[in-house]
Amino acid sequence: MEFEPVIGLEVHAQLKTKSKIFCGCSTAFGAEPNTHVCPICLGMPGVLPVLNKKVVEYALRMAIATHCRIAPESRFARKNYFYPDLPKGYQISQYELPIALNGHIDIELNGAIKRIGITRIHMEEDAGKLLHDPDQSFSRVDLNRTGVPLIEIVSEPDLRSAEEAGAYLRKLRSFLRYLDICDGNMEEGSFRCDANVSIRPAGTKPFGTRTELKNLNSFKHVEKAIAYEINRQKDVVLDGGEIFQETLLWNPDRGLTTTMRSKEDAHDYRYFPDPDLLPLTVDDNWIQQITQTLPELPDAKQERFMAAYGLPAYDACVLTTSRELADYFETCLENYSNSKQAANWIMGSLLALLNTEGKDIQQSPISPQALAALLKLIDSNIISGKIAKIVFDEMAETGKPPEIIVQEKGLVQVTDTSEIEKVVLKVLAQSPKEVLDYRNGKEKVFGFFVGQVMRETKGKANPQRVNEILKIQLGAGQK
Ligand code: ADP
Ligand code: MG
Ligand code: ZN
Repeated sequence: MEFEPVIGLEVHAQLKTKSKIFCGCSTAFGAEPNTHVCPICLGMPGVLPVLNKKVVEYALRMAIATHCRIAPESRFARKNYFYPDLPKGYQISQYELPIALNGHIDIELNGAIKRIGITRIHMEEDAGKLLHDPDQSFSRVDLNRTGVPLIEIVSEPDLRSAEEAGAYLRKLRSFLRYLDICDGNMEEGSFRCDANVSIRPAGTKPFGTRTELKNLNSFKHVEKAIAYEINRQKDVVLDGGEIFQETLLWNPDRGLTTTMRSKEDAHDYRYFPDPDLLPLTVDDNWIQQITQTLPELPDAKQERFMAAYGLPAYDACVLTTSRELADYFETCLENYSNSKQAANWIMGSLLALLNTEGKDIQQSPISPQALAALLKLIDSNIISGKIAKIVFDEMAETGKPPEIIVQEKGLVQVTDTSEIEKVVLKVLAQSPKEVLDYRNGKEKVFGFFVGQVMRETKGKANPQRVNEILKIQLGAGQK
C-alpha cells in the first residue's frame, strides 16, 4: 500500500524591531537576564499595552511579499494559559481576525516549481525563557524575551515530503531576510517551526489524523523529524494501528519523536478579544507605501539574473538565496563581464571556502573586486584556470591581490610557442612506447602527454597551446 504524506508548517519569526511589541523595552539579544523589562512586559496590574507601529509595518511587508490579502481591520486576542514564562497569564496574539490571509509562496525542488498556500499571518508577543539547570532543584526565568514581536506564518497542508517542507522553510527564511525583518537564525530561536504531519493512502482525498512535531531547531532536524514521523505513521497503519492526534517532541540525540501531550490534554486557551487594544485598521495608502519600498525579492531577482546575465535557473537560484550573495555576484560583474565564469567561481570555490571556514558571504576573505581581478587574469591568458585555483587559495590566506601573488610566485602562464615546443619534444622523446600507441590509434594516450607537459612546466603552460603543439608533433606525417 502506497501512502502520501501531508504536511503543514507553523513558523514563528522574531521581528527585528528595536523595541518590543507593546512597550519600549529593548529587544536586543544576549543581555543580562531580566534587564530588558518594564511593568508592561512583566504584566503588572493596571498597565496598558501600546502597539509598536514598526511591528505592523514588518508584518505587512511579509504579507504583501507573500501575496496575502490584508485585513482592513484586525484584532488582538488573549490566549490564556498558565506557565512561568508568561507573567500576565495570557499571551497577546491574533486569533479570529489576523492581519493577513490567503497568500502563497513558490518553492523550487528538483527543477519543478510548486506553489504553497499561506493560510494566515498574524502578530503576537513572545514569552520569556525558562532555564533549567539539571544540577538544581529549581528553574530560572529570563523575561527579556517577553513581549518581543513575532509573526506566525501558517501554511496550508500543501507540502508532500520532508524535502518540500525544507525547501518551503528555506524560501520563507530567504523572504524574511530579503525584507530585512527577521534574522532567520533557527539555532538561536529567532526562526522557529512546528510541523503538522499526516499520511493518507495515495490517490485518496480526505486527510488523515495529524500529529504536531515540536522542538525542531535546525533545518536538518525539521527534515529528519518529518521523515521519521512519516515512516512511524506508515508503520503504525500497516500494523493495523491508528494515528492519534497528539503533540510530539523531536529528540535529536535519539533520532525519534516522543509524546508530549495527547489531544485530551490539549489546552483550552479561552481566546477572547483583548479589551486593552483597539481594533487595528490598516489603510490602503499605507499598504501602497510599503509595497513601493519592498526590495527586489528572490523570485524576481532570480528571473532577472537569468534574463540579464544569461544564467541557468540553477545558478540564478543559488546566487539569489541571500541578498548579500546576489550583491556579491553583481559587484563582481561591475569589474568583469563573463557572468557564467563569475557564477561558477562563486558557487564553486568561493562557497566551498566559506563553508569550510564557517563564514557567510559578508565575511568573505576575498572581495568581489579581487575575485574579478583574478578572473580577468584567466581570461587574458596570464594564468590558466588550474593556476587560478592556487592563486585563489593564496588570496584567501594572505589577502594579497592576485596580480601580486602571480608575480611573486612566478605563476605567469607560458604561451611562448618555442618554449612549449621544447618541452613537448622532450616529453615525446621520453615516451617512445606511448607515442607508438598513439600513432597506432590509441587516442586516449593524448591526455597522458598533456599531463606530462603540464608537470614539466609546473602547470604554467597554456593548455590550448600545449594541445596544438602536441597535435602537430604527434601528427607529423601521420594519419
Ligand atoms: P492548530 O495547530 O492551532 O490546531 P490549524 O488547525 O489551523 O491550527 O493547523 C495548523 C497547521 O496544521 C497548518 O499548517 C495546517 O496546514 C496543518 N494541517 C491541518 N490539517 C492537517 C493534516 N491533516 N495533515 C497535516 N497537516 C495539517
Ligand atoms: Mg498548531
Ligand atoms: Zn517592557
